[in-house]
Amino acid sequence: MMPTIQILPDRVANQIAAGEVIERPVAVIKELVENSLDAGATRVEIEFRNGGKSYMRVEDNGRGMTPDEALLCLERHATSKIRSADDLQRICSFGFRGEALPSIASVARFTLRTRHESFNHGTDVTISGGKLLDKKECGMPVGTMIEVSQLFNSVPARRKFLKTDATETAHITYNCRLFAIANPGVSFRLIDNGREVFQSPSSPDLRDRIGEIWGWTLAKDLIPVDYTDENLGLRLSGLTAKPGVARSTRRELITLVNRRPVDSRTMGFAVLDAYLGRLPKGRYPPAFLFLEISPQAVDVNVHPAKREVRFRNEGEIRRFVLAALTETLNASRQAGLADENASAADLNKQNLPPQLKAATVPSPNVRTSDSQVTALNVEESAPKEAKASKRPTSSKSAPAELEAQKRISTGWKLLARLSERYALMETPQGLTILHLRHADQRIRYEHIVRTHDNAAPVSQGLLIAEPLEFEPLAAQVLETHLPLLNANGFLIEPFGRNFFRIESVPSWLFPEQSESFLRDLIEELRQRGAVSHDQRVVWERIAALAAKDSYQRSDPITDESIQAMVENLLDCEVPHSSPFGKPTYQEISWSELERRFKGQSR
Ligand code: ADP
Ligand code: MG
Repeated sequence: MMPTIQILPDRVANQIAAGEVIERPVAVIKELVENSLDAGATRVEIEFRNGGKSYMRVEDNGRGMTPDEALLCLERHATSKIRSADDLQRICSFGFRGEALPSIASVARFTLRTRHESFNHGTDVTISGGKLLDKKECGMPVGTMIEVSQLFNSVPARRKFLKTDATETAHITYNCRLFAIANPGVSFRLIDNGREVFQSPSSPDLRDRIGEIWGWTLAKDLIPVDYTDENLGLRLSGLTAKPGVARSTRRELITLVNRRPVDSRTMGFAVLDAYLGRLPKGRYPPAFLFLEISPQAVDVNVHPAKREVRFRNEGEIRRFVLAALTETLNASRQAGLADENASAADLNKQNLPPQLKAATVPSPNVRTSDSQVTALNVEESAPKEAKASKRPTSSKSAPAELEAQKRISTGWKLLARLSERYALMETPQGLTILHLRHADQRIRYEHIVRTHDNAAPVSQGLLIAEPLEFEPLAAQVLETHLPLLNANGFLIEPFGRNFFRIESVPSWLFPEQSESFLRDLIEELRQRGAVSHDQRVVWERIAALAAKDSYQRSDPITDESIQAMVENLLDCEVPHSSPFGKPTYQEISWSELERRFKGQSR
């Protein structure tokens, strides 16, 4: 049979569009909140259940819709925001495609209640799977309420791709926080399974909002940025990390373009460049950066979910952001602002790249010069008081201490150290090149994993048990894992809402790194959608984090420590690779050598 070309029915077209626009619950929330903002709302309430899978509601006090508009807005390509393609050049609203509402309504049960001020009654429309079920008048204040339930119930293939409730919840919460940060004139309230996650204050002060929404500890770790280039018509403002304040992910490196939260690689790279040498490698500065730019110089129509932007002149933006932050950071150091942050600077020192990197022989490659800059800057900016802090005096690495007890003779002999990174060994089997850092990670990892099976793990009390504040979701994650942590050498006590006190930490963790370790750990557990019921599996994850470079001691390496390292390594369950899957050593066997010198091909 000849296939014939047909125009797709709207319902099908909508479902296809939904595939692009509505990937997951958070996308629905985003579209609805953006509509509320476009409608001039000053109050937006967002509620969801089960990560948004079973229920979502967005309610606003915006201008609302007339009864006609209430039906029209559900038609494909119905938008009040643009009239012609030309309008795309000067888009100021969030929406403009006119496909969000019909798409959502095509893949869920959808209720719209809305009232425009020119009417004394509202309109109530219910749609399911794209079919109009009911339309009636209703009493309500001016504004709009949209409820979306049973997302993707009619599209099982899509439902399968949804992640756990916890993961979807994290996405929604994160994005609602961004909305609250980006729109200081609007008050947001977020409710998850009946529990208030946050309510953004009416305060227009960015620091207050960050404190309320993300936590005060973070808010206090930031310094103001405000930098304008009149000629280019660019302004960068907001708050950015004090030197030394770092995170393991970029979740708190937030960039907004014309008040729209966006992923901009260009801006992200510029920020990282500005902090180069001020942070250990692989760590990110938290920052909330607002770029103002003429709408003509940026293309927001790149991605259906509008999360990415493209600048007409990427290089210019990159240079501008870099200059703005570099200037801010330099000024803050001169003004002695960094001194306020003694503990952070000290922490940075602890977080220096590990032993091997720090000791790397100067070479022209970039990475080496990075670590030198790091060392330099930290020395400069670390205030004198930092010296008084409680760093353990012993510089012996914790694993080595314990492992030393069960030395075995391995028959590996150290011949030479190569470029501080490797050791060349002679073994009964041949020649072996040991990768010191990878080996160290493996040893440390297995040591920590084994402490899980210890009845009485060794722990060390902290001199100063300062309460730490976590943002609500993080606090929840920590709370969930407290039994595991506290059974394994930690002693962490909840201390009021979202506050915790670290009383002691296991002997493998340097006390002054406990805060950054916990923050990274929570982030890690959260990202993986964590909570495995197998406590040992979770503990292995903890051990892997602790085996990362930033938690290693920068000890000088001696020939004896290399010898001890080999013995400890060969004592490991998986000696040949690091916990991150990198080889710990490479071998050339005697027979292989012989073959090569005979000049025969294999
Ligand atoms: P777009 O936002 O791209 O215009 P949508 O499908 O999201 O498309 O919305 C269609 C139209 O419905 C909007 O242009 C707007 O006129 C109207 N609308 C949607 N949500 C609201 C709301 N919360 N308040 C007032 N009007 C709204
Ligand atoms: Mg819209």
